[in-house]
Amino acid sequence: MENRNFAGDLQISKVNKWYPGDVHAVKDMDMEIKRGEFIVFVGPSGCGKTTLLRMIAGLESISSGEVIMDGRTVNQVPPKNRDIAMVFQNYALYPNMKVKDNIAFPLKMQHIGKTEREKRVAEVAQKLELDALLERKQGALSGGQRQRVALARAMIRKPGLFLMDEPLANLDAKLRTEMRREIITLQRELGVTTIYVTHDQTEAMTMGTRIAVISGGVLQQFGTPQEIYRNPANLFVAGFIGSPNMNVWDTELISNNGQHYLTLGNARIPMGKSGLDARGLQGPIKAGIRPEHIVPAAPDDPHAVRMKISILENTGREAAVFLTGADIPDMTMVTGADFSGRAGQEVYIRLKPEKILLFNTETGCAYG
Ligand code: ATP
Repeated sequence: MENRNFAGDLQISKVNKWYPGDVHAVKDMDMEIKRGEFIVFVGPSGCGKTTLLRMIAGLESISSGEVIMDGRTVNQVPPKNRDIAMVFQNYALYPNMKVKDNIAFPLKMQHIGKTEREKRVAEVAQKLELDALLERKQGALSGGQRQRVALARAMIRKPGLFLMDEPLANLDAKLRTEMRREIITLQRELGVTTIYVTHDQTEAMTMGTRIAVISGGVLQQFGTPQEIYRNPANLFVAGFIGSPNMNVWDTELISNNGQHYLTLGNARIPMGKSGLDARGLQGPIKAGIRPEHIVPAAPDDPHAVRMKISILENTGREAAVFLTGADIPDMTMVTGADFSGRAGQEVYIRLKPEKILLFNTETGCAYG
């Protein structure tokens, strides 16, 4: 089969994967990805993200459904003809080869001449600041340098699609942050459609133009970081994205003279009128609020809720305040670093009603 150049539009249509032993690893996956997007697959360990990535790469067979590149089904196209480059967590580079030869390797496999190879290596090395390391053996590099070489090797072929599977997992926190930015900048410059797999929600939020949140082989939500953060489709997404976690509690919607209230333990939070009437919601429901939408309140605020500080974590930039209360579910508030309080002390808090999200108790789906 001939090599195909891929312009960058990728469609995943009703894709399923069953492994032997009745393991349904990927379920009815549907996604449309446009040229130049930076897509992140995120979800807990075992949710099926690597399996999906490997099916896109052609390294894993597809049980049913289709992977479509630029409008053509590629289920039967071997990986080497899909115009993709992959970067993995384990660098898969040759330790005894010089850096420049490692980078040039994919071109050699394509029988591209030496002069052209050297030119392209120089270009890519400059972009990734590897110029000074080209003559070194791969084995004599640090983790971050090796990962940079792996990126260079993936980039050198100018593929139509980058697939990256936890490429930064082996790096320390500082280097990860640096490399994250480098990958984003490179991807923007090159405009190559990219799919990046991670279980780290911060990585997903900071890197993706759109994020696919996956759990149990099922796509839970596919949207921009902002959409996913502000309007999670269900309780799984609400809990998985955001740190500290969203506060979620069992509550009841009570209507009284056209005014709606949510219960928080013994307290009642006025919700105003807007929207709730139209939705006809009543009775038991789950409510959620992000920690930054809980604020300190004055004791005489009629809607203040009294709680006790169990732990206070002040990073110098902000304070995460973990709260407990009598007959009230535990809550977390994130507020300014100037928050004065200490563990054991009582505080009054207020929930911003317009920021409260509501979820179906049984299905976990959001009311939106
Ligand atoms: P991780 O982040 O831990 O790599 P993941 O989200 O990438 O996890 P997958 O590796 O895609 O998840 O695995 C999805 C499911 O399929 C898991 O339940 C896993 O045990 C199962 N699985 C993966 N590979 C195989 C295989 N070759 N045979 C049988 N089951 C498999």
